[in-house]
Amino acid sequence: MDKKRATHNLEFNVSQILKEGTGATRLYEVEAEQVRGLDSTAVLVSPLIGQVKFLCTGRSVLVTSFLEGTIEKSCGRCLETFTAPITIELEEEFFPSLDIVSGVALAEPTEVDEANQIDEQHILDLHEVVRQEFWLVSDTVLYCRSDCKGLCPHCGKDLNIESCNCKNEVINWRWAGLLEIESKE
Ligand SMILES: [Zn+2]
Ligand SMILES: [Zn+2]
Repeated sequence: MDKKRATHNLEFNVSQILKEGTGATRLYEVEAEQVRGLDSTAVLVSPLIGQVKFLCTGRSVLVTSFLEGTIEKSCGRCLETFTAPITIELEEEFFPSLDIVSGVALAEPTEVDEANQIDEQHILDLHEVVRQEFWLVSDTVLYCRSDCKGLCPHCGKDLNIESCNCKNEVINWRWAGLLEIESKE
């Protein structure tokens, strides 16, 4: 295992590891201020920080990564802006487009996503796979806190801050009949 390298963004020149061949590894510290192409409902408000590990498999570079950051979005219940920590874990295979020794173009494995292609300058670019994972992860963060009471759908008051009397009235008109039946049973 190589020693940790200097802090890195999300683009890596992998020509050296490809030349070393099967079994070669690298470990990088990553600090990414922004992720290109991010157009999620969540905003990244801290750099993504973590580690990226490369393993040359011979035909590809296997990337495993663990990154942490902070997002900001608005709560699905009370609409307040809040921040939350996220972790992005990757395990992705990247494929070279040129043979590292001969420079001859390699036939693309048909199942390979464009995001998982190492370009002709041997740059392995993690932006797209991180973007996709960011989108998935931040989409699972919905509320400012799990017990957020949200806004009253009738008077609009933030029920985390104050209560209102709508609830009783709503129960009355919507469930009166049902409650009656239950109480008879
Ligand atoms: Zn909330
Ligand atoms: Zn209300």
